[in-house]
Amino acid sequence: MSAFSRHGGVLHAESVALTDVAAEFGTPCWVYSRQALESALDEFQRELRGLDALVCYAVKANSNLAVLDVLARRGAGFDIVSAGELKRVLAIGADPQRIVFSGVGKSAAEMELALTTGILCFNVESAAELERLNGVAAKLGKKAPISLRVNPDVDAGTHPYISTGLKENKFGVAYDEARALYRRAAGLANVEISGIDCHIGSQLLDPAPFAEALDKLLALIDQLAADGIAVHHVDLGGGLGIRYRDSDALTTVEAYLQPLLAKLKGRSLRILLEPGRRVVGNAGLLLTRVEYLKPGEVKNFAIVDAAMNDLARPALYGSWHDIVPVVSRQGAPTTWEIVGPVCESGDFLGHGRELTLADGDLLAILSAGAYSMAMSSNYNTRPRAAEVMVDGTQAHLVRRRETVEELYALEQRLP
Ligand SMILES: *Cc1c(COP(=O)(O)O)cnc(C)c1O
Repeated sequence: MSAFSRHGGVLHAESVALTDVAAEFGTPCWVYSRQALESALDEFQRELRGLDALVCYAVKANSNLAVLDVLARRGAGFDIVSAGELKRVLAIGADPQRIVFSGVGKSAAEMELALTTGILCFNVESAAELERLNGVAAKLGKKAPISLRVNPDVDAGTHPYISTGLKENKFGVAYDEARALYRRAAGLANVEISGIDCHIGSQLLDPAPFAEALDKLLALIDQLAADGIAVHHVDLGGGLGIRYRDSDALTTVEAYLQPLLAKLKGRSLRILLEPGRRVVGNAGLLLTRVEYLKPGEVKNFAIVDAAMNDLARPALYGSWHDIVPVVSRQGAPTTWEIVGPVCESGDFLGHGRELTLADGDLLAILSAGAYSMAMSSNYNTRPRAAEVMVDGTQAHLVRRRETVEELYALEQRLP
């Protein structure tokens, strides 16, 4: 059963009608399904059963505490990219030994917090970061467990903004420099080599680049072994794509992982993964209401109460999200531009959608669980939307709507 399905013409999240969610919590509003979150995580766990493996959910995709908690209870670890994300996962009681820290710009203060917390591993992205980490760890009298994020120079074939594994990207250590940097790390007193990692991009629909990247990491691991440097885990990052529209070729988690696991067979390497989008992307939607219909000579606009500040992906990447009516309506469809109230022509949620609409209709913008609320802003002084998680027959408010007063509470006029 899909977590979001239609009963009697009304779209539901699990057993809750989205019309009821809108009536109780207002619009715009994010709606997540606990069941969808759990089953997406389970797909990874199932493939890894019996292996020494850890799925570290990439917190940046959706960092709501309820989402983190549901995943932690189901056995997930976490991949964080800031002290803020570290504090979030600690707030839900995550085990520090299930936390890895990624990101190109870790500050000394962030390193200090992560070291005193005792996280599993720092995914180091440059020579300068390695030296800084060694210094911070020395000051604290600790040894920092590290992995080098190696840039395998493979083309993930995804949007340029979310492709991260090419030489020209800012991420990771160049493949040809990684061996020397591992030797350097082996000689530092306050770091301890734990693993090797890569993350080649996001929204990958083809599993082949993952296998290509792993081949390169394994070749490097063999060279390191020849240097007397042992690597205990391999972290393949995240990046597995989801279906935003029917025409997207969906790779199953099994088809993604089996070739990788086959390559790892017989090597005593712990396996780490950092999926984000694949865990939460299809587990959330954005519920919005049509404010005005504005038919025109060239285009018809449906102005809805959600906007680019809520869901930036269409404006940022030209992304497609399916948009469907919450209550099915009879009548011939018209082609609509689905736009928000923000004063920017880039403020669109969908172009050219065939829908039968009336003022006040509810729409669901689908596949909006990842990089959606997490990227939202207060542009145009719009309070961020409420977040609701449905669990069976219950809808729980997991982040209340912001008030306008909260938005300027930190501001002051000149004396
Ligand atoms: C963003 C990110 C992820 C998660 O990527 P998804 O495409 O959401 O799976 C994992 N690891 C690192 C280092 C990242 O930056």
